[in-house]
Amino acid sequence: MLEQIKIGRYCCAPSTQIENFRPLVGDDLIDELLELAKDLRDIRICHINATPFGGGVAELLSREIPILKALKVQADWRIIHGDQEFFSITKSFHNAIQGQEFNLTDDIKHIYIRHNRRSAELLTSDYDVFIVHDPQPAALRYFNKHKKGKWIWRCHIDSSDPNPGVWSFIKPYIESYDAVVFTLEEFVPPDLNVNLVEYILPAIDPFSSKNMELPEDVYRSAVANSGVDMRRPLIVQVSRFDPWKDPLGVIQAYQLVKREKPDVQLAMVGSLAGDDPEGYEILSRVNEESAKDPDIYVFTNLEGIGNMEVNAFQRSADVVIQKSIREGFGLVVSEALWKGTPVVAGNVGGIRTQIPDDMQGFLVDSVEGCAESLLRLLNDDALRKEFGEKGREKVRKDFLYPRMIRDDLRLVKRLVSS
Ligand code: UDP
Repeated sequence: MLEQIKIGRYCCAPSTQIENFRPLVGDDLIDELLELAKDLRDIRICHINATPFGGGVAELLSREIPILKALKVQADWRIIHGDQEFFSITKSFHNAIQGQEFNLTDDIKHIYIRHNRRSAELLTSDYDVFIVHDPQPAALRYFNKHKKGKWIWRCHIDSSDPNPGVWSFIKPYIESYDAVVFTLEEFVPPDLNVNLVEYILPAIDPFSSKNMELPEDVYRSAVANSGVDMRRPLIVQVSRFDPWKDPLGVIQAYQLVKREKPDVQLAMVGSLAGDDPEGYEILSRVNEESAKDPDIYVFTNLEGIGNMEVNAFQRSADVVIQKSIREGFGLVVSEALWKGTPVVAGNVGGIRTQIPDDMQGFLVDSVEGCAESLLRLLNDDALRKEFGEKGREKVRKDFLYPRMIRDDLRLVKRLVSS
């Protein structure tokens, strides 16, 4: 059993040019970033999470590490490996920290501890700062013997109202960190006791293959090639198959829209993540629904949907949906807005921060509200265009990588200077 527990190293080249960001985010931000990077040139940073693909954290790290390297900051990305049993447990922890019921048994605690303790033993000590993402590897700090370096726990989920059993189990591990970072102040559990709590909003990379500009004929033909009729309206949700993303609610909202607009189509583009066994169950329920309606398309990374295809779908959609019922941030919202596509989204968590002020009315709390907002946008070309333009500007100002990396490096500098 123990031999299945490994720490992998995921390599990323410095495949980006910092100067390309300057016209987008301005001189002040880029100059501050270059200055911080210079100050931290001798500091070795290690990001640790549980999967190299699928989901927002892998997405963030897959671009953050190359950008840090382009800044000449020494950054590595390490991944804790586990088996199916461990990742089923950590997915349940993820859900429980977002408030779901969970029966935490001694056996489950034991499996979690065993994986984290073993991973902690395998972790080398040659870093100055460890940034550990989400609950899966959260006990690494506690079980790490070297006790060297500064340790940051980065929570990407909505932990404002965690399941009490799981929270009281995991809390001592979290409290062993030097700093804890949440996406929003409202996500901090009430009884958390750590020296330093920070808030950092995620961001997207406008130059990555997922977000880069694409010629209209290219992205439209990519989507047409998948079978979608580009002459008819298209709604798209890009999400893991996860209960918090409410994929069945998306289908219900689409069905209501279809009563008024029979030619509408729905594409559900969803990745399956290495640390998310629950995704496969939910996908099979979505497939059951889609089998009843030829205008519902379901695509996954297993069929080769990659970054470029996600980019094409987000650009080709008339409206993107993100009907989450809990959401730490929801990178997909910024991804769609950056492409000038309007977004109807759940009125929750970090999604709210991304929607432009005068478009907040498109944040929804129900299937019916979602259908109404979709119809309003599908029936109004000028409104879709206005929403898209305002959304892109909001993302340019607040949600591009240089701002997030600046926030991260400010925190690292503060910790290593203390
Ligand atoms: N994603 C993807 N392919 C898919 C579904 C999702 O590449 O089929 C990406 C999506 O573009 C985004 C990330 O996975 O970059 C999901 O991040 P988000 O913060 O929206 O949600 P999370 O999965 O972290 O809850």
